[in-house]
Amino acid sequence: NNVTDAKHLQQAQELDLSNFWMPFTANKQFKAAPRLFKKAKGMYYTTVDDRQVIDAVAGLWCVNAGHCREEIAHAIANQASEMDYAPTFQMGHPLAFEAASRVAEVMPAGMDRIFFANSGSEAVDSALKIALAYHRARGEGQRTRLIGRERGYHGVGFGGISVGGIVANRKAFSANLIPGVDHMPATLSIEHAAFSRGQPAWGAHLADELERILNLHDPSTVAAVIVEPVAGSAGVLIPPQGYLQRLREICTKHGILLIFDEVITGFGRLGKATASEYFGVTPDLLTMAKAINNAAIPMGAVAAKREIYDTIVNNGPANGIELFHGYTYSAHPVAAAACLAAQDIYEREALFERAAQMAPKFEAAIHDLKGEPYVKDIRNLGLVGGVELESREGQPGTRAYDAFLHCFKNGVMVRFTGDILAFSPPLILDESHIDQIFSTVRAALRAVH
Ligand code: PLP
Repeated sequence: NNVTDAKHLQQAQELDLSNFWMPFTANKQFKAAPRLFKKAKGMYYTTVDDRQVIDAVAGLWCVNAGHCREEIAHAIANQASEMDYAPTFQMGHPLAFEAASRVAEVMPAGMDRIFFANSGSEAVDSALKIALAYHRARGEGQRTRLIGRERGYHGVGFGGISVGGIVANRKAFSANLIPGVDHMPATLSIEHAAFSRGQPAWGAHLADELERILNLHDPSTVAAVIVEPVAGSAGVLIPPQGYLQRLREICTKHGILLIFDEVITGFGRLGKATASEYFGVTPDLLTMAKAINNAAIPMGAVAAKREIYDTIVNNGPANGIELFHGYTYSAHPVAAAACLAAQDIYEREALFERAAQMAPKFEAAIHDLKGEPYVKDIRNLGLVGGVELESREGQPGTRAYDAFLHCFKNGVMVRFTGDILAFSPPLILDESHIDQIFSTVRAALRAVH
């Protein structure tokens, strides 16, 4: 109502912005001209000055069922008053087991042992540690190397930035990255595959680089290979046709675990529960977070093949801890309650199928931007899309930032990374939302120079 709206605006104008050190943000630039939301519902945010902004990125690739779903809000509120917290170290509570069973139901067959964390970064570090512990438990403790990929994003833990391949995220910490890591080349080639719709036909051979790296180090020293099946944060990189299958074959051949980081692709982004299911390629470990509970409260997880769990647990001591790893908030009751409520919504509303149905319309709309000023590539799969712009001479990133700002001022929140605009809308979107998003982006591209 008007009274609370006026109060919100006044509070926002009086807000002290100095204390909050904002993550992955240009703090000086933001604080000079802040962009603040106060409410969200369905496809839309409301800004503190009462503008409706359509969410073209599902928050941060995470609010797959749309904002402020009542069932999730109730589940959280009920659980917080019923039992706020219980440990899962040598104790338990039923929701932790129910959430694990529920998540396991939508994982690829056999990947039904679920380890909970609180974020994608923690899920990644958990998966890397599980991989190392698994080889050790099998008597192959010499397998300590990890292979990531250039432009990979696996969160911000020391493990995640070490296997990750985003230079800016590593530079300041480069002397302290974990040792024994190598990187495959990124799969993006604008030269060979610009404006591909869906998976590019070019590039499967890049998986053979893994063989080259393995030969260099000797495959018997390598524990795991980690990739995002579709890379989001580095600017929407779609795997070439056949590429993931080839990675799987090479890992299997050499007894190396394949980890898919599905923090973005998990829970419907590509029109299936997981990218693994979408591509028909099953990893050994799979990381997830974000949409696991519609991002209503922090939660992450690792799905492990049963054999990995069995190897570590059965080789452990009879009555002792088998894996020395975990978080105070692993399977936090409130997060677990939110997870169950979110999974109910995904199933009841068939949102993964809905994403698959909307994907062709999304694809057509995003590729319709071809020919607009400075557009040098457009990439998409499922409900993920990227539009790469020519960079301004000597000022990389500024053109996409200006386009992002133009969109925001005109009621659309997109994301930008470098000079790439990224899109990953909630799966509940309809055609009118697609029109609104891409007509605004088109206007932005024509307005920025
Ligand atoms: N892995 C991938 C593929 C991601 O996209 C992200 C976040 O965007 C992460 C890991 C890190 O997740 P979080 O920010 O929850 O730590």
